[in-house]
Amino acid sequence: MSNGTVRRADTVIVGGGIAGTALAYYLARGGVEDIVLLERDQLGSGMTAASFSGVRQQFSTPLEIELSKRGLRFWKTCEVQFDSPCPFDQCGYLLVTSRPDVMQKFAESAKLQRGLGAGPVELLSPAGVNAVAPWLVTDDLAGGSYTPEDGRVTGTDGVAALAKGARSHRVDIRQWSPVTAIERRGHGYRVIGPKDTIDARRVVVAAGLWSPVLLEPLGLAIDVFPLELHYALTTPALEGSTVPLTIDFDTGFCIEREGRGLVVSMLVSKTPPSYGQHEMLENWFDAATRRAPTLVDLGISHVLSAPVDEVSDGHPNAGRMEEELWVLAGFAGHGVMHGPVLAELLARMMLGDPDQTVDLEPCNPLRTPQRSLENEWMATPIRERSVTDVLSKSSETN
Ligand SMILES: Cc1cc2nc3c(=O)[nH]c(=O)nc-3n(C[C@H](O)[C@H](O)[C@H](O)COP(=O)(O)OP(=O)(O)OC[C@H]3O[C@@H](n4cnc5c(N)ncnc54)[C@H](O)[C@@H]3O)c2cc1C
Repeated sequence: MSNGTVRRADTVIVGGGIAGTALAYYLARGGVEDIVLLERDQLGSGMTAASFSGVRQQFSTPLEIELSKRGLRFWKTCEVQFDSPCPFDQCGYLLVTSRPDVMQKFAESAKLQRGLGAGPVELLSPAGVNAVAPWLVTDDLAGGSYTPEDGRVTGTDGVAALAKGARSHRVDIRQWSPVTAIERRGHGYRVIGPKDTIDARRVVVAAGLWSPVLLEPLGLAIDVFPLELHYALTTPALEGSTVPLTIDFDTGFCIEREGRGLVVSMLVSKTPPSYGQHEMLENWFDAATRRAPTLVDLGISHVLSAPVDEVSDGHPNAGRMEEELWVLAGFAGHGVMHGPVLAELLARMMLGDPDQTVDLEPCNPLRTPQRSLENEWMATPIRERSVTDVLSKSSETN
């Protein structure tokens, strides 16, 4: 517990998920000395631990595609770069739809992805979908968008690797050290907690879904809100097959490999307040009856729920709130793949050497977020309104 002393540091980072640990590493590698990272539990114990940790190139805006290209590179090289276990499972990523208008949007996004030099993206006919995922019923599909070089990781492997890197640059990482308040003090900030109280020149809030709670007493707000996601682990399934991380964009039906079994979920957000694990599983089995009937006999071994860090416009928050108070939080459900990349870009901005090739203005945490097709509609079908609602609305107004 705190002995009542207040220590000093140059930079305090609040939160030791993938975002905070990556930022600590990149700032320290860039030459910042005297960094303290405060994590209230153990490193990686927030959303990062719950994540499906899919890594994909399939987005609809140049910014997210660039983040994805760099994210894929980070995860494919993480193990070697940090000499820390971090396997990359190159299982591919498959989005399918029965709607020609959504397929048309997949095609437009694929063209953009190719133009920006993302990895191979294949637009598949129903027969092509069947070739990569023979367990799917494809007769009614318009097709799919498939990126064979994408895959999945374990987010906490990345946290461990980045923390190792940060410690090697003398970052002081303190676990089980919650922050209860941040106060403005002279030309800096006082970061207050029951174990550690620190006066710092600069503070970065990287506390995921808890970031707004820390900012609010300072009169500051960012757009990030929890979207509860229910999911289940199954008994062994599709053994011997490579299972692409698959999302049916029409329904949110989702499957992913996990050990010998699968993770199954419905990526939907427009649900009644009573919607919980039971309803998710009922909907998933209904959807599986039509889309993947060979999976309806699967047993369920665990059912879990975790909140995802949604933002209204699909863009993350990475930037300055005021003076030397910065934010890196709220990744629209893509922080495992995009977090380390944004941490590196933000570190460069903070070090006064911004990467001129990436415009982070869409991520400005002070922006007023707008929900429109100009934004990242492909981020995920987990939306207040489903993607197909958004597309219908757009075609009505065109
Ligand atoms: C079910 C699920 C599936 C997902 N699937 C994917 C996917 O396929 N691909 C993908 O890229 N992303 C996915 N995500 C999203 C991804 O996990 C998040 O975007 C990412 O983990 C966010 O990282 P973070 O570091 O910002 O937050 P977190 O990992 O939540 O880290 C924030 C940390 O701050 C700490 N903290 C909070 N308050 C305080 C305080 N007051 N003092 C000190 N510490 C504090 C917390 O304990 C926590 O460890 C998924 C998320 C979920 C829940």
